[in-house]
Amino acid sequence: MENRRDRFSEERRDLLGKALTVTLAGLAAGTLAIGNDRVEAAEEAAAGEKSLVPIPDVPVPVAGESQIIRMMQDLRRALGKPIEQRRWGMVIDLRKCVGCQACTIACIAENKLPPGVVYRPVITEEKGQFPHVSKSFLPRPCMQCEEPPCVDVCPVGATAKRPDGIVAIDYEACIGCRYCITACPYGARTFDFGEFYDEGGEVAAYEQVASHEYGKRWSREGDGSPIGNARKCTFCLHRLEQGDLPTCVVSCQGRATFFGDLNDPESLVHELAGKANATRLKESAGTKPVVYYLQ
Ligand code: SF4
Repeated sequence: MENRRDRFSEERRDLLGKALTVTLAGLAAGTLAIGNDRVEAAEEAAAGEKSLVPIPDVPVPVAGESQIIRMMQDLRRALGKPIEQRRWGMVIDLRKCVGCQACTIACIAENKLPPGVVYRPVITEEKGQFPHVSKSFLPRPCMQCEEPPCVDVCPVGATAKRPDGIVAIDYEACIGCRYCITACPYGARTFDFGEFYDEGGEVAAYEQVASHEYGKRWSREGDGSPIGNARKCTFCLHRLEQGDLPTCVVSCQGRATFFGDLNDPESLVHELAGKANATRLKESAGTKPVVYYLQ
């Protein structure tokens, strides 16, 4: 593993600065403990010791009640349908995003992301001239495009669109060519260079905890996947299949992110995506994202 890590580290240093690594190291070390109970439950399930966490019995929401409860009801209804009848989608209300990056860090903790791998950055833009200045924030997950250019360029068929619309990567088939990273118009894919936050020393205990992307157990031991693979947001597919909302949705401090089944006319995301102020990024690229922004 050392040789591979050294090679990736050298390559990465050419591509990425160290600033993000330093910042995220501190933040991730402090937050990876979140959800330990669920990680242990998922590990037990992966080992065949117990069934996955059951879908919670969510109370029926009443008018004015939590949008989280409504989305969990929507999720539960969607999971009751055949997979090909679901179309997972996300709506992000930019008017409510305060740029706190809680979603970014929650995602890093949930998916045990290493240095340089970020699935949901919040892109910050400064406008105006002092003293008349303002900032805008744009969370950017994978758009789970209906026409995803990242799929067509893969030479080994390691990335594919699932019947529910999520664009998935088969880590065991991926050869790390990175064509998909170049093809994505949204910069939504990154590469796992095999780095750890504790560079040059012992790999810390929190970095040895496996992730459960795609419902499997990924420990990043030795040269093991997803080291050497392209990586990206999965809409927290492993959480969805247990009846949980994506971690960026539940961690959002401004309640700016919504998730559900766009095919369900009763769902909150269907309602919000149909608003007159709903837009999608780079419509001209013809990729048909299922992430909508309200502005
Ligand atoms: Fe593929 Fe990029 Fe679209 Fe995600 S946003 S599906 S990585 S092209």
